[in-house]
Amino acid sequence: MTLRMYNTLTRKKEEFVPLEPGKVKMYVCGPTVYNYIHIGNGRPVIFFDVVRRFLESQNYEVTYITNFTDVDDKMIRKAEEMAVTVPELAETFIAAFLEDIQTLGVHEATLNPRVTDNIQEIIEFIAALVEKGYAYEARGDVYYRTTKFAEYGKLSHQNLEELQYGIRIEVDDRKENPQDFVLWKAAKPGEIYWDSPWGQGRPGWHIECSAMVRKYLGETIDIHGGGQDLTFPHHECEIAQTEAVTGHPMANYWLHNAFLNIDNEKMSKSLGNGILIRDLVKQIKPEVFRFFMLSAHYRNPLNFSDESLKQAANALERIQNANDNLKHRLATASVTGEIEAAHTERVAAIAAQFVEKMNDDFNTPDAITAVFDLVAEANLYLQQERVNAAALQMFLDQLQVFDQTLGILSKQADELLDEEIEQLIVDRTEARKSKNWARADEIRDLLTEKGIFLEDTPQGIRWRRK
Ligand code: AMP
Ligand code: ZN
Repeated sequence: MTLRMYNTLTRKKEEFVPLEPGKVKMYVCGPTVYNYIHIGNGRPVIFFDVVRRFLESQNYEVTYITNFTDVDDKMIRKAEEMAVTVPELAETFIAAFLEDIQTLGVHEATLNPRVTDNIQEIIEFIAALVEKGYAYEARGDVYYRTTKFAEYGKLSHQNLEELQYGIRIEVDDRKENPQDFVLWKAAKPGEIYWDSPWGQGRPGWHIECSAMVRKYLGETIDIHGGGQDLTFPHHECEIAQTEAVTGHPMANYWLHNAFLNIDNEKMSKSLGNGILIRDLVKQIKPEVFRFFMLSAHYRNPLNFSDESLKQAANALERIQNANDNLKHRLATASVTGEIEAAHTERVAAIAAQFVEKMNDDFNTPDAITAVFDLVAEANLYLQQERVNAAALQMFLDQLQVFDQTLGILSKQADELLDEEIEQLIVDRTEARKSKNWARADEIRDLLTEKGIFLEDTPQGIRWRRK
């Protein structure tokens, strides 16, 4: 079973061959931190988290970098509006972003570099482009000379003429060509700035990723990701910058997620139909939102509606219930013995099916079907009067393995219910009476692991949660 992924650059599903065996270097373009993130922004955040988790489940060591754009025109305008400085604005919304994605169960990135911590590297990158003739200065601005990079347009599959035709002619006599893009912007009076060989100014948007990818990951990386709107111009420009300087491919696989719509309409400021992640999670569990996101293939558009969320909540509840029931039975079942081969084989087949679907360009909806196959198998087993603890554990472990990739099971489900704790304490007391020390210790360990502490008191055993 080999992993294949759709590469925007070649428009083909390709076998994944990492630069270095067992390792993956991955970069996903992060947010401009001038606002709270909305549910659409949640799609790349959740999808690429799942890509990374799946790669890790396949024993790859993943370096996952995602940046913060903490200075640009939008930041400057918003800071003015809020009467704060640009760094103050960035602090507020970086903290909010990290909080939001943590709520969504997204694993922490290896590193979250910021533009303002990389100005020197950015200036050096631009200087190298100028020196090689790929960039030119014009009255304090620096622009990329797109006509010099023969492959400009290769990611978005357009050629320069088509691009020229599509571009609205700007009244900007500083550019040699309308499709040239800005690398360095001269500061207007009162704006935040850094000193550079071209005067006081700040970086354009695209250059930051070229500089940070090279600094933190190297000249060529394995996977570069983002929403499909980033294909052009952002990623196209990143390629032009990086490949002009290094002479090597910037990334071997370019992955782009499709958009999330609301009630079959594009989300937009003018329609006022945007929903913030932090508002959504007041209404629904974050796991439901994750499940909903993964219920469609990442390259297909996904429609957000009350109905689709309700469906997601119901479906997820079936998985959650099976998980809870297995745990409940395990907490009270002490029947041990061999697991029947038929069960082991069936679970192994379902596990293989899950990996096969994820290997096929991260087909999460089909992988979720495998999760439901496991749920059906577990539910059938739970109907038996006598259950084997080892078999229950096997179902639970497999659900956990799936969840390491998907992150859709409620964290709270790990907590024992009060009645389960009481029952375990009774079992433990009986085990001790009958001198079954192994069982007594096992129960104590289980309780400790779940954060339950026992205390011997003259009135009997008391318990409390950590
Ligand atoms: P922005 O806030 O527009 O800079 O977007 C940040 C990230 O979210 C980028 O990767 C975008 O492609 C992605 N994104 C923005 N809106 C949506 C949406 N409605 N659906 C999916 N991805 C989106
Ligand atoms: Zn980028």
